[in-house]
Amino acid sequence: MAVFCFFRQMFKMKGGISLAIFTKGVHPRGCKELSNRQPIGVCPDPDDVWLSLSQHIGAPAEPVVQAGDRVLRGQLVAKKATGLSANIYAPIAGTVRGIVGHITISGKKREHIWIENDHSDESISAQPLEERTPQAVLSRIEEAGIVGMGGAGFPTAAKLNVRGKADILVVNGAECEPYITCDESILLSYTEELIEGIRLAMIASGATRAVVGIEKNKPKAIRKLSDLLADGEIAVHPLQTRYPQGAEKQLIFGCTGRVVPEGKLPVDAGVVVINVHTALSVYRAIVLGVPCYERIMTVSGKAVERPGNYWVKNGTPLREVANFCGGREDCARIVSGGPMMGEAVFSLKICTSKTTSSLLFLDASESESKVAGPCIGCGRCVQACPMGLSPTFIEEALFAKKYEEAKRYGAPACISCGCCSYVCPAKRFLAQSVKLAKKIIRERNL
Ligand code: SF4
Ligand code: SF4
Repeated sequence: MAVFCFFRQMFKMKGGISLAIFTKGVHPRGCKELSNRQPIGVCPDPDDVWLSLSQHIGAPAEPVVQAGDRVLRGQLVAKKATGLSANIYAPIAGTVRGIVGHITISGKKREHIWIENDHSDESISAQPLEERTPQAVLSRIEEAGIVGMGGAGFPTAAKLNVRGKADILVVNGAECEPYITCDESILLSYTEELIEGIRLAMIASGATRAVVGIEKNKPKAIRKLSDLLADGEIAVHPLQTRYPQGAEKQLIFGCTGRVVPEGKLPVDAGVVVINVHTALSVYRAIVLGVPCYERIMTVSGKAVERPGNYWVKNGTPLREVANFCGGREDCARIVSGGPMMGEAVFSLKICTSKTTSSLLFLDASESESKVAGPCIGCGRCVQACPMGLSPTFIEEALFAKKYEEAKRYGAPACISCGCCSYVCPAKRFLAQSVKLAKKIIRERNL
């Protein structure tokens, strides 16, 4: 197994589960203190929301409303398409203004449902689910439109539908990206709800054990969760603070000692992974009857007056978040997601979605402008890559249009963690190059 040599096993079979660390990656400044000291706030509901029909991996959802319809908070407005897809619910009460093209973070216009808020806040919700059979729990998760809220957006019901194939549920509370603290805020403020959500996800998946992986830089969260877990069915595993500890393969290895072979899925190693926020959403859907129409997101950076974690309704324009939290004019760069894997925000008309974990307002000291120089062959990108790739050679092959060669250097295994760009003294845009090579290889079916 090629990947295994980039991991190093540390402890074996403590409480039935191996503890292990991976040896590559980087250690960027955490900057968590900017946003993790305040209680979770609430961003006011906007006057209008634009709900993307593609807030998940898979086919876009299909609208079940049209211009002129009145909707209530919690009402289904787009149903999942056949196959992999997810339902979408209205986060506010109001009138549907239309199904319109609206700008997204990718720069392309995509179909959105535009709802104008009537500020009545009239709502509907499902009854709490009494029947706790695997099928009933899975159906409710699917109905509620829950997707991976760590950023991946994979429909959760499809992910958890692995009965008999996975014995361990790994819950991702690593939150290794700098600045982001929304999962930490859930671990501290919704601990009991989170535990219940994990138990429900275990019922759905058939996993007999669960492991919550949390980086050691969150000692209060580790202590609070550990104090409430006495039965041994769910364990907390403190993980080394090292980026990208929260990447799926690194997390699984850190929490269980199991290795997911190259080109395989976690379930092939008997593991299913969900994020902390996803588990909270499972609790809300089943115990409270609330579908997935809002989330907690981190707002941080030195160029925002009121950093913190906030409940934000899906479809809220980023401008509303910026105005409420006090985004400042000296902001040099706005990023959606973390500084390592996130995307630059070019317009505040872009709206939040189920997967928007954070919005960063970075000043000049936090956002160096990069001018790439020639490669000096130092090898740091190779040393840092957690997947054991050679980013500099992949980039060279890409520029020479030698895509087969880029594939041989392992481009398809790239997880877009950004470690290579982070360590490069020549400031080369390696992660973007490897991502492009991966895309071309996939499109050409090489
Ligand atoms: S090549 Fe991909 S996986 Fe490796 S460090 Fe760069 S972005 Fe991360
Ligand atoms: S880190 Fe940058 S300079 Fe060093 S080998 Fe990689 S691409 Fe070249």
